Amino acid sequence: MTTNRTFTMIKPDGIENGYSGAILDHILKAGFKIIAMKYTRLSPETAGQFYAIHKERPFYKDLVSYMSSGPIVAVILEKENAVEDFRTIIGATDPTKAADGTIRKLYAKSIEANAVHGSDSNENAAIEGNFFFSMLERF
Ligand code: UDP
Ligand code: MG
Repeated sequence: MTTNRTFTMIKPDGIENGYSGAILDHILKAGFKIIAMKYTRLSPETAGQFYAIHKERPFYKDLVSYMSSGPIVAVILEKENAVEDFRTIIGATDPTKAADGTIRKLYAKSIEANAVHGSDSNENAAIEGNFFFSMLERF
């Protein structure tokens, strides 16, 4: 099993607020290597599939609508201990609770519009990367 990759998205607020360059720079300076990257937009259907794990949560409907409201950047990243280290550099889900210097503290606007996604396990990193990229689009 691959344990050195994770998956991220720059969410619609990150793009809309002009932070995509700064966020990618932050990620690269933290030692992550970009394996695959795609600028695209989720439909309500595909956003619903991506977040299906949260289907029963009260915020699901709003989250799906928000995530399909504008373009996103989907990225597969590589680094030793990628999943855990990436969660550390993005910070807590709620930007008001995120540590200083984290991506969400620096660039996020709210608990929903929180600038970036980060996979929570090696297994989900693989599932989420495969959701956006085919074998031919990756190294
Ligand atoms: N979210 C939300 N309200 C909440 C919790 C989460 O809108 O109370 C959104 C937010 O965009 C978050 C996503 O749902 O990033 C997925 O939630 P999760 O608990 O997996 O947080 P994450 O892993 O992104 O930190
Ligand atoms: Mg999560």
